[in-house]
Amino acid sequence: MLKDTVQVNRDVLVHVLEALEAMNPYPASKEDQRFNAIHALRAALAEPGTCTWCQDGDSDSGVYATSCRHYFDLNDGTPEDNKMQWCCYCGKRLMQELITEGEDE
Ligand SMILES: [Zn+2]
Repeated sequence: MLKDTVQVNRDVLVHVLEALEAMNPYPASKEDQRFNAIHALRAALAEPGTCTWCQDGDSDSGVYATSCRHYFDLNDGTPEDNKMQWCCYCGKRLMQELITEGEDE
């Protein structure tokens, strides 16, 4: 067992992640901290051996934030539409997570 590893209920992490993502706008001085926390949580929640590409911004956005902390800008369609099965940065299997329309409006 790794040092500094704790076991947390997955639901707890999901709630924290959702809360952090909803905190927008966030004080600019703390924005990096929020960003890092969101990335760490997404990475922790990801299935082993996969890389999750989260659509960034709104449901029309072509920008995806990857679990391995890169950004990728697709001109057209989703990673799935573009037959992307593997992350081009870390080589793991690509899972996409799209923003659902009309949630906030
Ligand atoms: Zn990756």
